[in-house]
Amino acid sequence: MADLYADFVRYFDSAAAYSDLDPGLLRQVKACNNIYRMHFPVENEHGQVEVIEAYRAQHSHHRLPTKGGIRYSTMVDADEVMGLASLMTFKCALVEVPFGGAKGGVCIDAHTRPAEFVERVTRRLTVELSSRNFIGPSVDVPAPDYGTGTREMAWIADTYRTLHPEDLNHWACVTGKPVSLHGIPGRTEATGLGVLHGIRAYLDDEDRPGEGLSRGFDGKRVIVQGLGNVGRNAARALQEQGALIVGIGEFDAGIYDPNGLDVEAAEAHHREHRGLKDFPAAQVFANNAEILEQPCDILIPAALEHQITRGNAPQIKAKLVAEAANGPSTPRADVILRDRGIDVIPDLFLNAGGVTVSYFEWIKNLSHVSFDRMLRGTERMQSERLISAFEQYTGVPIEPRLRRQLAEGPSERDIVLSALETSMQDAYANVAQLMRQRDLPDLRTAAYLAAAESVGRSYIDLGFFP
Ligand code: NAD
Repeated sequence: MADLYADFVRYFDSAAAYSDLDPGLLRQVKACNNIYRMHFPVENEHGQVEVIEAYRAQHSHHRLPTKGGIRYSTMVDADEVMGLASLMTFKCALVEVPFGGAKGGVCIDAHTRPAEFVERVTRRLTVELSSRNFIGPSVDVPAPDYGTGTREMAWIADTYRTLHPEDLNHWACVTGKPVSLHGIPGRTEATGLGVLHGIRAYLDDEDRPGEGLSRGFDGKRVIVQGLGNVGRNAARALQEQGALIVGIGEFDAGIYDPNGLDVEAAEAHHREHRGLKDFPAAQVFANNAEILEQPCDILIPAALEHQITRGNAPQIKAKLVAEAANGPSTPRADVILRDRGIDVIPDLFLNAGGVTVSYFEWIKNLSHVSFDRMLRGTERMQSERLISAFEQYTGVPIEPRLRRQLAEGPSERDIVLSALETSMQDAYANVAQLMRQRDLPDLRTAAYLAAAESVGRSYIDLGFFP
């Protein structure tokens, strides 16, 4: 199994070598504080009792609550959740959201199990977490990850509020909920859109380290691995911006067309047939890993960890690897890519859009009011004043339909998505600036160093270290 915690430690140690912080402090910043391993019984679809193995890791408590997704996958183990929780602490530091990192995992294959079974597992998991104080708006707040989505988050929220009806903020116990259940518009597509903004920030950076890629997305050939939440939203957004999605990988096959694939048609096919192997594309690879080695400008692994290894890194033909998944490149592959002049935008920055919008959802739940509700009226009033002043000054009346359009205040979705874009741009600028200032070898080292020093400074401010 992929040891994501070992990867984290390796990347951390390489970056920490450039830091002047006290070595003891850096050891604390690296350490994963808590891990809770659970076994609990759940009746399965055959009427038998199944013992479910699950984990919740909390990497750092320098900020509270801790925050991080829950994944459902048969490959989950302690090292994986510890590695993912550590990445969460660092992601939150990079996009300046005030959480420590956490991650949960449940060893089931949610893609193939009936909804009733997944619901029983999710509700029982919530009871287990609650009984050990591993969930709560001010303690630890889960979110969706691989194999989970709005449906599971709704079950968690509902179970938590049943257990804690006296907690006025019970909806803030989990993020990524359906919008109808106190979720926030834009959360589902946030990670994928964050990937778009992160790549754009890189392409727009005139001093970026890599060569061979022009600014903007127009005509850029992109391969996306994984048509789940992150992959499909990133692919859709990139296609809308003029990129050509030439390849898509799924668990059963890879499809490729140098003239571009129809993402919507591939998504519909995947939904209907649960896979892509029969999709009518120019080329279909039965060995899904082959899609990673096809010609493209940008390769976006958006499925699982350890997809780019020392075995296939020498065959990657992309000019840029944009890590939408967590831990998709092994540390050895990372070195090979760097030696071959292929830039990598690292996961801890690139997929931080999800936790950024989760932060907005958490604030909304704590304040019990939506962002647009308090703004719309004043925005409309200001626009009306401007329009009237324009009409008075020019003598040209604005026709009613245009007037209504101009006076319309921003929707909650507009507010959320523009704040997401700014957060990703600012985070990229900070990482890229640090890379140049400290003469660091790549964006990953810079991202780790920026996050480690930010967390370290919090520990100093809290008085733990002189
Ligand atoms: P998901 O379950 O929605 O989608 C994953 C997709 O990958 C599925 O369609 C699955 O069939 C496919 N897949 C599985 N094995 C594959 C293989 N070998 N080759 C190609 N495709 C394969 O999961 P997700 O939420 O999109 O998460 C994907 C990655 O992004 C994970 O690493 C996750 O930790 C990370 N991530 C997710 C979020 C989020 O908000 N959901 C946030 C940050 C990071």
